[in-house]
Amino acid sequence: MDIVQERRLLTEIPGPRSRELQRRKLASVSAGVGVGLPAYITRAGGGVLVDVDGNQLIDFGSGIAVTTVGNAAPRVVERVQRQAAELTHTCFMVTPYEGYLEVCEALAELTPGDHAKRSALFNSGAEAVENAVKIARAATGRQAVVAFEHGYHGRTNLTMALTAKSMPYKAGFGPFSPEIYRAPMAYPLRWPGGAQACAEEAFEAFAGTVRTQVGADRVAAVVVEPIQGEGGFIVPPAGWLRRVADFCREHGIVLIADEIQTGFCRTGDWFACDHDGVVPDLITTAKGMAGGLPLAAVTGRAEIMDAVHAGGLGGTYGGNPVACAAALGAIETMRTENLCARAREIETLFRHRLEKLRHRYGAIAEIRGRGAMLAMELTAGAGDLTPNPGATAAINASCHRQGLVTLTAGTFGNVFRFLPPLTAPDHLLQEGLDLIEQAFQEHLG
Ligand SMILES: *Cc1c(COP(=O)(O)O)cnc(C)c1O
Repeated sequence: MDIVQERRLLTEIPGPRSRELQRRKLASVSAGVGVGLPAYITRAGGGVLVDVDGNQLIDFGSGIAVTTVGNAAPRVVERVQRQAAELTHTCFMVTPYEGYLEVCEALAELTPGDHAKRSALFNSGAEAVENAVKIARAATGRQAVVAFEHGYHGRTNLTMALTAKSMPYKAGFGPFSPEIYRAPMAYPLRWPGGAQACAEEAFEAFAGTVRTQVGADRVAAVVVEPIQGEGGFIVPPAGWLRRVADFCREHGIVLIADEIQTGFCRTGDWFACDHDGVVPDLITTAKGMAGGLPLAAVTGRAEIMDAVHAGGLGGTYGGNPVACAAALGAIETMRTENLCARAREIETLFRHRLEKLRHRYGAIAEIRGRGAMLAMELTAGAGDLTPNPGATAAINASCHRQGLVTLTAGTFGNVFRFLPPLTAPDHLLQEGLDLIEQAFQEHLG
C-alpha cells in the first residue's frame, strides 16, 4: 500500500474531472443505478480513496462493508495476480480446481458450529440468499419462508420479496415471489412496549406470526440478519436470536443467518452469530469475504446442503478461481493481522467519540452496532422519535464535501452508518470523526 494515509483536498468534491465523468455516466449508465458521491476513484488502500482529481478521501464505507481487509490489500493482490496469470475460468461444474475447495474448507472451519458442513459458492449476496432458500425448501419439502421487518436480503426477485423496504428496492418491480411472510423485528429503540420488553415481546410476536399466519409445519426457513445492515444496523436485544433459533429447531425449520454484511470480522467476531452463541443451520456470506472481488457462499449442515440433487445448485461463474484466490488472501489477512480484534478496537475508538456527540445533540437517539459496524439514528430531538432523514442526508452530504465517504441506512433514511476498512490507521479514523463532528455543528449547531 503506497498511498499516504492522509486526507488531501485539491479541488472541491466532486472535482472537475469527476464532474466530467459524471456527465458521461448520465449519458451511458441507466438512471436506475444511483451514485451516492460522484467522485470517481482510481486507486485506494488502507483507509484512503484517491479520485481522478487527485483528492484523497477518507473511507468510512468500505464499498458497503466489502473491503474489510483494505482496498487492493497486498495478500489479495498477490494471489489474484498469480491466479489471473494461470487460470481465470473453467466453470467448477465442468472441470473443477482446488481454490474452490480451499474456500469451502475455510468456510467450514470459520463459520459457527463444529458439525459436518458443506458449502456452495456464488457471485453475489442475493444469489447466496436465493440458493439458501432453495436448499432449505429441498431439504424440508416445505415452501414458506419467514423474514423480518427492516430486513435486507438483495435485489433479485426472491430476495426483493424477502427485503422489507419498498423504496428504492421494490417499488414498481412486483409481482414478488409468493410464500414469503414477515415478522416484527426486535428493534429495541422503537419497540412499542419499550426496550426492556423487546426481547420477550418480539419473540412472541414472531412465534405468533409463524403459528397463526403460516403454520410452523409449513415453514421451510427463517431468514435473519443477526444485526440488520441496510435496515439501520439494528441490534436485537440479548437472547432474542437464541429464542428464534430454538423455535426453529423445535419445529424443524431451517435457520438461515444472513451474515453477508456482518460476517468476516466486521462485528469483532468472525461472524455476528458467534457473539450470541447461536449456530445457524445455513449461513450466507459475501461482501467482506473476498477483499472486493465478487464471491458469495452458502455454508451449512451437511445433511441439509446435501439434500439437493446433483446439478440443482451452481452457475457459470460461481466460485470463480480469481475470486477464490482473493478470498484466500483476504482470510489470510484477517487471520495474520487479527482483524477481529482490530474491529473491537475500532468500536472503542468510535464509541468514545460518538457518545460524546450523542450527549451534545438530542437528535441522536442512539449509537448502536458492534465492532466496526456502527451507526447513529437521528430523530427530531430529545424524547421525540420522529425520524429525521433531512438532517441525516444533510450531515452525510457535508461529510462528502469534506472528503469523508459515509453512508446512510434505515427504513426511514435516518441512520448514519460507519463501516471503515479494518486496516485504516487510527489517525485517519479520528480525522473522519472530527469531520463528522464538524458536520453536526454545521447542521445542528
Ligand atoms: C448486501 C447484502 C445482501 C445482498 O448482497 P449483494 O451482493 O448486493 O447481492 C444480502 N443480505 C445482506 C444482509 C446484505 O447486506
